[in-house]
Amino acid sequence: MNHFNPEQALSETRREFGEHGGVTPSISRSSTFTVIDPETMPEIFGGIRGPQQGGCFLYSRHFNPTVDILARYLAAMEGTEFAVCTASGMSAISCALLQLCRNGDHIVSSDTIYGGTHALLEDLLPQLGITTTFVDPTDTDAFKKAITPKTRVLYTEVLGNPTLKIADIRALSKLARAEGLSLVVDNTFAPMMISPAHLGADVVVYSMTKYINGASDLVAGAICTTKAMVHQLMDLHTGRVMLLGPTMDPRMAYDIIQRLPHLALRMREHSRRALAVCRRLEELGVAVVYPGLDSFAQHDLATGLINRGYGYGGMFTVDCGTRDRADDLLDELQNKEDFGYIAVSLGYFDTLMSCSGASTSSEISPDDQKKMGLSPGLVRLSIGYTGSLEKRIEQMERAVTAVGLTNK
Ligand SMILES: *Cc1c(COP(=O)(O)O)cnc(C)c1O
Repeated sequence: MNHFNPEQALSETRREFGEHGGVTPSISRSSTFTVIDPETMPEIFGGIRGPQQGGCFLYSRHFNPTVDILARYLAAMEGTEFAVCTASGMSAISCALLQLCRNGDHIVSSDTIYGGTHALLEDLLPQLGITTTFVDPTDTDAFKKAITPKTRVLYTEVLGNPTLKIADIRALSKLARAEGLSLVVDNTFAPMMISPAHLGADVVVYSMTKYINGASDLVAGAICTTKAMVHQLMDLHTGRVMLLGPTMDPRMAYDIIQRLPHLALRMREHSRRALAVCRRLEELGVAVVYPGLDSFAQHDLATGLINRGYGYGGMFTVDCGTRDRADDLLDELQNKEDFGYIAVSLGYFDTLMSCSGASTSSEISPDDQKKMGLSPGLVRLSIGYTGSLEKRIEQMERAVTAVGLTNK
């Protein structure tokens, strides 16, 4: 296990207080900022003289004081030099990839990724001359074999969505380094729990819509990386975030700043409950997949990648075999037991669950779903932490028994 402590790192970064001694930061909602000395305008505009160089903020699509606080906190938590906050997870992913790849370039990606990212790589980026080869994330050699002279980026999620297959980030980062490529990792499923930059990733992207925010009430993303890459992303002439413009609103940044301090607590409780529910499901003979179970094919790799003390996350899957049975289980869990809600997304305080093949992975063709090991009856659950755990386990037991998923 790793000894990096993201919670500690976050607490040690300089704390921002509000005007008038407020314990929370102030929200700077200005889109533009006054330049006191007109002669400094060219240097400020050119990015040479920022607030830290005796200049000032200029315009909020570029940098904004409140959004910068969040970026600084995220960078501390990830152990990267800096971060850029964006309007969504997809804009973080697309801007990072577009910054690293030009027309003619090539990406090697895990085939077990979020449906929107799969569509970006498979359908949209080829229209811009950027192609992708998809490989099994558990097979580092497959990444190596797929590399061509045109390859610029290796892309993966740590815990693949929705099959929870784990990519060996250490091995992939060694490969990326040896080949002169950038390793981009989507860590949306595992903030705090896994620190990809500490394992060698060059760029860590997040959908903050999920666990980081944790309240399912906003859409946001982040790119955590080097100062040099942040400067490229914000470059006045070619910066993908600067010019494509998926800027984060300062009010949004404030909301997320207020939820970061309890992210670690939340992750621990999601993990504790997921493990308890999954152990019970396994006892009942249900086809449950969870990285924290000894039966999980890559349990040792998972243990070797996670930071100590956060558990194995809040995501698990139950394979119901067929779509119809998956629907029956969802119906029991939501409408009879009130265990959780049938909804896409994850990382909420209540349980969210969906049949992946028919929802968040439906952009992926049935053939490709089969190849990545996604059964049509797979139900993905993002376990919540409301209600008593004992009652939740009883509800789950009744539901899987009613649908006939137990072998006991
Ligand atoms: C939701 C999600 C995204 C996309 O994020 P948005 O905030 O919806 O744009 C990307 N990757 C993963 C793993 C996700 O779960």
